[in-house]
Amino acid sequence: MRDKIYNTIAFRLALWFTGIFAVCSGFAFLLFYYLAAQTLQNQIDRELTDQASKFTAIIHTSGLMGARQLAVLEAQAAGEKLIFFRIVYPTGEVFASSRMSYWENVHISKTALQKLTAQKLNIFETVEIPSTGQKARILYSYVAANAILQTGVAMDVYSKFLSAFKLVFISAMGFIVLFSAVSGRLLVRETLSRVETITRTAQNISGSNLEARVRGTGNKDELDHLVITFNSMLDRIEALVKSIREMSDNIAHDLKTPVTRIRGFAELALVQEESLDAYRSMAANTIEESDRLLDMINTMLIISKAEAGEGDYIFDNINLTAMIEEACELFAPLAEDKRISFSNEIEEGLVVEADIRMLQRAFSNLLDNAVKYTPGGGCVRVEAFMENRTAVIRVMDTGMGIPPEFHEKIFDRFFRVDSSRTNSGAGLGLSLARTIIRQHRGEIYVSGNLSKGSVFEIRLPINNSGII
Ligand code: ADP
Repeated sequence: MRDKIYNTIAFRLALWFTGIFAVCSGFAFLLFYYLAAQTLQNQIDRELTDQASKFTAIIHTSGLMGARQLAVLEAQAAGEKLIFFRIVYPTGEVFASSRMSYWENVHISKTALQKLTAQKLNIFETVEIPSTGQKARILYSYVAANAILQTGVAMDVYSKFLSAFKLVFISAMGFIVLFSAVSGRLLVRETLSRVETITRTAQNISGSNLEARVRGTGNKDELDHLVITFNSMLDRIEALVKSIREMSDNIAHDLKTPVTRIRGFAELALVQEESLDAYRSMAANTIEESDRLLDMINTMLIISKAEAGEGDYIFDNINLTAMIEEACELFAPLAEDKRISFSNEIEEGLVVEADIRMLQRAFSNLLDNAVKYTPGGGCVRVEAFMENRTAVIRVMDTGMGIPPEFHEKIFDRFFRVDSSRTNSGAGLGLSLARTIIRQHRGEIYVSGNLSKGSVFEIRLPINNSGII
């Protein structure tokens, strides 16, 4: 349980908040305490020095006897418990003093006297009076050539002030720590409640409920950015899930037809007595449908592999002109059969770095589609040329055209425009073509309008080294 609380960001932030407050105020206290103690001590030292000056003056005018009287009078006037005076010879022998009943435990420090004799500078000491435990500040000072004044003052007031200061500070500190803990907790809770909302939304989202979104506050802070990013991630996931659903619907639909046919042939062979030729033709049809299925599955595998960056491409400098010409020769008779006029204009000497097998596949799909979706009497034209170190291949037809809203979609797996469903096909050709062209760092897109047919354009950079 304790671990659980400690692991919450809210608790740790509040702890940090409080800790930082406590350390800062503690540091401020120590600084103030030191300054106050220093100022008070300086003031006491100044008072003691003033007293010593008085003694120097009186010895100057009235000799040591005058100093003796001054010691008694000054102590009486200020309070014998508060101050004392002792006039001693440099040897440490006492010549005169004020009444010392309260101060008798305060001795003359030999070290202080030696230091004073050596340095000729005032010596200050802070001592504890053994009988009362209170502190006193002592000054040793030369007041005449052979007379040293030892004077001391009780530091009661000073100590009381500092104790009061400590008490005030400790109470204030307690309040500050409490205040920072409470305010830190509130602040953190307010911030983290928004994170909580995001977490709750994420928890609510399941496969069937992808519509949930987190509402931003609109104040464009970090959490608002997180909300925007989170929501746009959800948008993308939703679109992805939708396209996966569509794709699996399409796969199911497209696999169903050949499988149903194969089943039909098998059923027919089972229930009807037929001639050997008829059985052979059924077996041939079954093989044909199975090949179609296998072809679809293989194409899907190639696309998936290439998308995952695992395609086994072999790049080489290839004669693009020759490759296009060969493919055109292959498709020209098919076009002729459909009474489609087929023409081409291919620049000589086009060379690109490519996998020839794959590029052939991509290009054949375009030619196949152009012939397939163009009715008799139409035209198919192929153009290829070099433009800024990019080989451009265009396949143009005067066929049924593609509605502009599907110009992107037709490259999705299994997508087919409804009007073309009467033609054979599985909706994989363009998807494969795009995957191959992208593997060559190229682009493929379609333009054209419905009434005038379609224009497919492939743009291939001539150099692909280091891509795969
Ligand atoms: P398919 O096997 O259906 O031809 P593709 O991936 O090659 O699959 O093409 C996807 C869809 O794009 C086709 O079903 C068709 O609707 C449309 N399409 C492709 N090429 C053409 C074209 N030249 N003219 C008209 N529509 C085309």
